[in-house]
Amino acid sequence: MGIIVKVTFFKISRYLLHVLLPRTCAHCKEDLHYLDTAPLCPACRDSLEPITGLCCLKCGSPLESGGEYCFNCRGHKSERLKINLVRSAFTFNPELKSLIHAFKYRGRKNLAEPLGLDMAGTYDRCPELKDYKFLLAVPLFPDKERERGFNQSELLARVLARERKLFLLENSVERVRNTPSQTGLSKRERHENIKGAFRITKPELVKGRRILIIDDVATTLATTDELARALAASGAAGTAVFTLAREP
Ligand SMILES: [Zn+2]
Ligand SMILES: [Zn+2]
Repeated sequence: MGIIVKVTFFKISRYLLHVLLPRTCAHCKEDLHYLDTAPLCPACRDSLEPITGLCCLKCGSPLESGGEYCFNCRGHKSERLKINLVRSAFTFNPELKSLIHAFKYRGRKNLAEPLGLDMAGTYDRCPELKDYKFLLAVPLFPDKERERGFNQSELLARVLARERKLFLLENSVERVRNTPSQTGLSKRERHENIKGAFRITKPELVKGRRILIIDDVATTLATTDELARALAASGAAGTAVFTLAREP
């Protein structure tokens, strides 16, 4: 009896909240069902695209015509990445973009939990990541983190570390330069923009270890590759990158 009363009360309060503050899907703006707490409607949620097909063994870009490596990773040595491999849970499609936007900029900090669980599911499908037991979230510049109130990559890393019993390296690297946004820059400009942006503050935590860098979105990999270079200079045994989203 008590439980029924509680559930009914929960539903009524939810309904009243919905009437007073109707909520809409973060992507298509359709009204959400009053019991739905997700920022996406069911149709948009179903449109998320987990990466399950063939992808480049190194950088993780989806491969359309088969083979093992993408054009860039087969290319000239100087263009090659410092990172050993990259894996991501989803393609960065418009629905996921809206979801990540809600997570980062509209105060939906609690989305770290379901998104981190999605990453844990992908982690299980990528046995090549299992050699990298030490997680490291890409740090934000301190002013930026203060403004946002959290580091989204760190929240995702925390969920993954808890779920898969991995070790999270905290406060071991800092961003020493507030780099302008990478948006709109060419690949070369992005590399120039990010150069020297990271400082390893606790090299003893990094030395000799294989590190899995966690980030929300992988685009040109300029940022994570620069971090991998700083880690290698401090004696890391190798680095891989694992992100929530991959921008093809
Ligand atoms: Zn929708
Ligand atoms: Zn590649």
